[in-house]
Amino acid sequence: MRRKPGIATKNHAKTKIDLWLRVSKMRILRVIISSVSGFCGGVERAVAFAISAAKQCRGKTYIDGALVHNWRVMDSLKSAGVKLLGEDDLEHATPLDCIVIRAHGISKARRAQLEYHFKSVIDGTCPHIAKITQMVERAANGNRPVLIIGNRSHPEVLALASAAAIGKCFAVNSMEEIHSLPRDLSEILVISQSTIGEEFFASLAGEIAKIFPGAEIQNTICGSSIGRQRAIVGLQKSGAQAIVVVGGRHSNNTATLVAAAKATTLPVFPVETVSDLFHLPLKKFSAMGVASGASTDGASIAEVVSYLAQLK
Ligand code: SF4
Repeated sequence: MRRKPGIATKNHAKTKIDLWLRVSKMRILRVIISSVSGFCGGVERAVAFAISAAKQCRGKTYIDGALVHNWRVMDSLKSAGVKLLGEDDLEHATPLDCIVIRAHGISKARRAQLEYHFKSVIDGTCPHIAKITQMVERAANGNRPVLIIGNRSHPEVLALASAAAIGKCFAVNSMEEIHSLPRDLSEILVISQSTIGEEFFASLAGEIAKIFPGAEIQNTICGSSIGRQRAIVGLQKSGAQAIVVVGGRHSNNTATLVAAAKATTLPVFPVETVSDLFHLPLKKFSAMGVASGASTDGASIAEVVSYLAQLK
């Protein structure tokens, strides 16, 4: 069935917004926005905690590291009175000051340090990550080893590793790393960083199961990450000829989405802000998919769509 062009929107089963835009007399552009876009629940919650703390705290409100990989959101947090914690601030914290913990959590040692310096510690750890932490703690109580599939230097993995029994936590991010694990690990709990790719997890978990038959394997990728990854396939099925992925350059979940988008074999354009689209050869596409990472705000997505809509 032929559709009428115009500023129409339509919800697809697998896509959130389907825009048909007449950008010139000769050109109609279709922009299909992923069904899972904007902040994930964990980031939204941590941002709300920080803003609310800034309103209620009688001293200064700090966050322990960038809350999101998104300068626009960081700027608005700054305007709301939320400061990024520096080591000097830690030493000079007063009993009136407050500190907010980021969505991907912190290590036990860092939490203890913050609790020592601040009377008011507001825990913005995502509930999903809190649940994975409890799984690691239960394994630690049974003196069981823990294997995390993910990036060992990512704050989330560092935080999870700190909940494991000392010397009994390993992190792997490739097949090679699995093969160099000690072979005497028994009753190992295997979990994943919350934002890794589903297929990547499945392939590494399959190999781990072969080498450690007694392993308890738990896929702990969060629902938001899974939804975003699957929605990329939805963009392709809906007719996107290329995919723009909006998100921070240092964001793990955005990197996972870029990999998922590349797996479709469509042309992929990872961008942090709309200005990264300038001068890209986009006019040749008549249907563009737009996906976004978990810390990408709605305004950044809207800017990208507006830019695409004026490409004559
Ligand atoms: S990406 Fe998932 S685990 Fe991470 S903060 Fe968001 S909802 Fe929580």
